[in-house]
Amino acid sequence: MKYKRVLLKLSGEALMGDQKYGIDPQRLDQYALEIMETKKLGIELAIVIGGGNIYRGVQAEHAGIDRAQGDYMGMLATMINAMALQSALEKYGVYTRLMSGLSMEQVCEPFIRRKAIRHLEKGRIVIFGAGLGKPYFTTDSTASLRAIEIEADVVLKGTRVDGVYSADPEKDPNAIKFSKISFNEVFERNLNVMDMTAFTLCQENNLPIMVFDMNQKGNLIKIIEGQELGTLIN
Ligand code: UDP
Repeated sequence: MKYKRVLLKLSGEALMGDQKYGIDPQRLDQYALEIMETKKLGIELAIVIGGGNIYRGVQAEHAGIDRAQGDYMGMLATMINAMALQSALEKYGVYTRLMSGLSMEQVCEPFIRRKAIRHLEKGRIVIFGAGLGKPYFTTDSTASLRAIEIEADVVLKGTRVDGVYSADPEKDPNAIKFSKISFNEVFERNLNVMDMTAFTLCQENNLPIMVFDMNQKGNLIKIIEGQELGTLIN
């Protein structure tokens, strides 16, 4: 196995599937199934899920809502996704724990670093909900920081593109895909992998990022097994 302890970042938007909003039940089930099968390889797995399919802080400003307030609303959105994912995983008999960056003791545990590591060691999938519990951050920053805290080997960023390209592959037909790229080159070429806060956290702490297409069935397992898919940034 290429990795032993991984942090998987899923965007909220991906959960929408073909819908315009919310959670597509088929997509949710597909993710749960893939995660369950990947877990069977014996790795330790933590997950951060975004909330963009329900609410983003930046939307708030257009609606006359204070930005920080909007960000907290976004964090609650990530909790809705996290709870849905937890349930979907448990349907497949996977042991999970949901830990939140905001206190919500009726539905989950608070984030306690040492406890999170303990859960992982016991074979439970740990889902980190509510981001970092702080406005002006994103779930990408959450993925980076939590991965560093739990000493993960890599952040796997599941997206709808199959890696990092020299330009936006949806707009530029001449865009080429990198199989590997350094943190510095991503900066120099001004490529958009994660927001800067999330990205520099990884760079400063030597935490590799693997960008891959999560919607292609079987990709998650292949990456854990060490197949050369996606783009590795280190
Ligand atoms: N958010 C936040 N602090 C965090 C994590 C998330 O304020 O630590 C808010 C922010 O408003 C963000 C929203 O939650 O827009 C949803 O998360 P994100 O946009 O990262 O989700 P994704 O793009 O991955 O679906």
